[in-house]
Amino acid sequence: MKPTAPDIVRIEKAIRNIPDFPKPGIQFKDITPLLADAELFRASIDALTDHFAPGEVDAVVGIDARGFIFAAAAAMKLGAGFVPVRKKGKLPFRTHEQTYDLEYGSSTVAIHIDAVKTGARVLLVDDLLATGGTAAAAATLLQKLGAKILEISFLIELGFLGGREKLKGLPVRSLVVY
Ligand code: AMP
Repeated sequence: MKPTAPDIVRIEKAIRNIPDFPKPGIQFKDITPLLADAELFRASIDALTDHFAPGEVDAVVGIDARGFIFAAAAAMKLGAGFVPVRKKGKLPFRTHEQTYDLEYGSSTVAIHIDAVKTGARVLLVDDLLATGGTAAAAATLLQKLGAKILEISFLIELGFLGGREKLKGLPVRSLVVY
């Protein structure tokens, strides 16, 4: 079912702001109240998937860790496979890795070398777009494997951080923008 504008408003209202978590100055977007509400969780998955026809997506790729929740449910809905992009050192088989800059230091994400086939049509999903470094690194890994990225979808976008700039040339969609 296609979510309506009031559904999106209700989704937004269910996202809890936690000031100064995990460190001072960060306002953490807590999605646990949304996940706990069956109707809103379903509406958020509907909104992430409603513009794709069954069979149009080969794999939904989720980013460690909250991205997994939405990506796995979206994959079930679309009849697609689920593929994890994980933090370095967590995947057991051979991996490609991509390092990206954080405000202080850097981080590395990884994907199994055989996670998607060349030419696979993929939807990349994470809970939140902040500076865009994580999603850009995940997109680079998928491009390395020869995947065709249909869309990068987020439940939440912190627009004031300009993360879309790092995803230039890729179709980006987010449900709730701050
Ligand atoms: P970035 O690479 O800066 O776009 O950060 C995105 C990743 O960090 C996502 O996987 C989010 O889960 C997490 N993240 C960044 N900022 C926040 C925030 N304010 N609230 C919740 N999660 C965040």
